[in-house]
Amino acid sequence: MTVNLLDYDLEGLAVFCERLGEKRFRAVQLFRWIHQKGAASFDDMSDLAKSLREKLKVGAHVKALDVISEHISSDGTIKWLFDVGGGDAVEAVFIPEVDRGTLCISSQAGCAVGCRFCSTGHQGFSRNLRAGEIVAQLWFAEHFLRKHLQRNERVISNVVMMGMGEPLQNYSELLPALRVMLDDHGYGLSRRRVTVSTSGVVPMMDRLAQDCPVALAVSLHAPDDALRDNLVPLNKKYPIAELLEACNRYLAYAPRDFITFEYCMLDGVNDQAEHAHQLVSLVRQYASGGVWCKFNLIPFNPFPASGLIRSAPEQVKAFAAILSDAGIVTTIRKTRGDDIDAACGQLAGDVKDRTGISQRIARQRTVMLKPFAAFKET
Ligand code: SAH
Ligand code: SF4
Repeated sequence: MTVNLLDYDLEGLAVFCERLGEKRFRAVQLFRWIHQKGAASFDDMSDLAKSLREKLKVGAHVKALDVISEHISSDGTIKWLFDVGGGDAVEAVFIPEVDRGTLCISSQAGCAVGCRFCSTGHQGFSRNLRAGEIVAQLWFAEHFLRKHLQRNERVISNVVMMGMGEPLQNYSELLPALRVMLDDHGYGLSRRRVTVSTSGVVPMMDRLAQDCPVALAVSLHAPDDALRDNLVPLNKKYPIAELLEACNRYLAYAPRDFITFEYCMLDGVNDQAEHAHQLVSLVRQYASGGVWCKFNLIPFNPFPASGLIRSAPEQVKAFAAILSDAGIVTTIRKTRGDDIDAACGQLAGDVKDRTGISQRIARQRTVMLKPFAAFKET
């Protein structure tokens, strides 16, 4: 069995090099070849000694994930469905904006939390992704985009762990993956530009604060425990008061001085004026100091099995106005990639239909270059 070098952060790679009888600094060269230059073949790594390359060929490989499908939206959003074996697939979505390129990636195949409004939750849990499978989504997207944009510099400026799965229920694999993203010899992303989104796994929020405090988004979705128990079953284990305390502890380490609360707007369920007022008192009165936070309202992306309906745009605006009037910064998430089912909670994909995939991908790429041309990083 050879090892996949995408599984290693720089320290892990240094240990691996030592085991091969090589100096630790070789790991830096190797790491840069893999992550900064996108090399997958040891023969391409021209400044590594031939003897090292031969050893690597015997004991290691660089293996990304196979692409099952690729969809390009009219707004430039691209969604990839990756094969992770055993009939499972995960998705990553690239969202180009004028001043940034964001990649939304997955941490698990399926999810055990089972939120009512989430299609991944409805699928159930299949398995944790390995660190290398998390990193592979970024590795593939970054180098694919560079090639197609004919750019030498970085295309992806932000990573959000908001694809499939609960990242804090896969902590041991998440951590090395985050370190690869942040490492200056890897993708060199700042801690402010890497966001972990969680449904509220309280003990792991504390671990993350110690080990690798990146930006944190917390999926709140309800102002009281009765409603949140129903929407986010994990709330029964870590109720709102505990969650908010954990948010405040996290803030002492966070790269930003606020927590982003995500709130999925469900018609008639959690989108009434009274819910907004309750939220204001919750984040304001808590522990006398409240939680420094910002709200991001997400229009619900419906799927048939949920039995839920998206709140009307006027309802979302009125809800946002109550929070804003109380002095809480509130944004309404633009839905991107709607036409290719790449919006939040729609990351399910039809894994079974793999026929003619490569032909379809090739056809799509010819139309893709137009939305790409509109994207410039400043
Ligand atoms: N498990 C983590 C991260 C993945 S979900 C979490 O729950 O935070 C990322 C975001 O998408 C979460 O805020 C989640 O609430 C939201 N989401 C899930 N399903 C959705 C849907 N159908 N419509 C809109 N947002 C959804
Ligand atoms: Fe899991 Fe997040 Fe979906 Fe909830 S919203 S089921 S935690 S992926």
